[in-house]
Amino acid sequence: MQNSSIRIFQKGFNYSQDGPGNRLVYHLSGCNMRCPWCSNPEGLFPDGSTTVLTVDDIVKEAVSAKMIFIDGGGVTLTGGEVTCQKDSVLKLIKELRNNGIHTCIETNASLPCCEEIFDTVDYMIADFKSPSKEALKKITGADIDIVKSNLIHRAKTGKPLLVRIPLIRFFNSGKGNATAFGEFFQELKKYGNDTVFFEILTYHEFGKEKYAKLGMNYTVTDGYVSDDDINILLTEFKKRKINVINT
Ligand code: SF4
Repeated sequence: MQNSSIRIFQKGFNYSQDGPGNRLVYHLSGCNMRCPWCSNPEGLFPDGSTTVLTVDDIVKEAVSAKMIFIDGGGVTLTGGEVTCQKDSVLKLIKELRNNGIHTCIETNASLPCCEEIFDTVDYMIADFKSPSKEALKKITGADIDIVKSNLIHRAKTGKPLLVRIPLIRFFNSGKGNATAFGEFFQELKKYGNDTVFFEILTYHEFGKEKYAKLGMNYTVTDGYVSDDDINILLTEFKKRKINVINT
């Protein structure tokens, strides 16, 4: 069945970086955004995938790995962008849960009509890359109104939501951005004070060397943030009682 196919470009086990506990992590192919710092450029294109699996394939694999999902672990779907394959992803999440397996997605939360996924998945990790509508559109192609609406929708479910901020000097650092991040996160916490968490990921260049191999240009030249850049954001969060965690 067409809707039961899932295209992936990588899979493997990971502890606590992609959701709670020990997890079997599937990287799904294709992404609707184009962040210039993306560390998985090989996963940006839907047809760049190396493997096509069915929902049944993944459920069987996950069930056989159940014994090693320690410390609240399970299956994480990441990317690329998981919601680019939303029909099969929703089906997979439901099947995994029916089999008693904890589910997590990592998403850029920028596509519409994915509410059923956000309602169903046990744990959601979502980026909030910039509080500026103009910067987000210009640099990544995404619409901030959709991102905000999706994060608010998830926060209202009362299920865990970890919001990640990739802090990148030329893109989203500085006092003005920090204030705008703080304002939105304070609003988000109103819907889920005990279930919404925040994490700052500082700019890195782990994926940079892949670009040349793929015939792509890596264009970021001013991404690294200073301690001052980080402290400006942390000070704003502290003022607003926004708790930052490290996973
Ligand atoms: S949303 Fe994620 S996968 Fe997509 S381009 Fe940006 S960093 Fe890469």
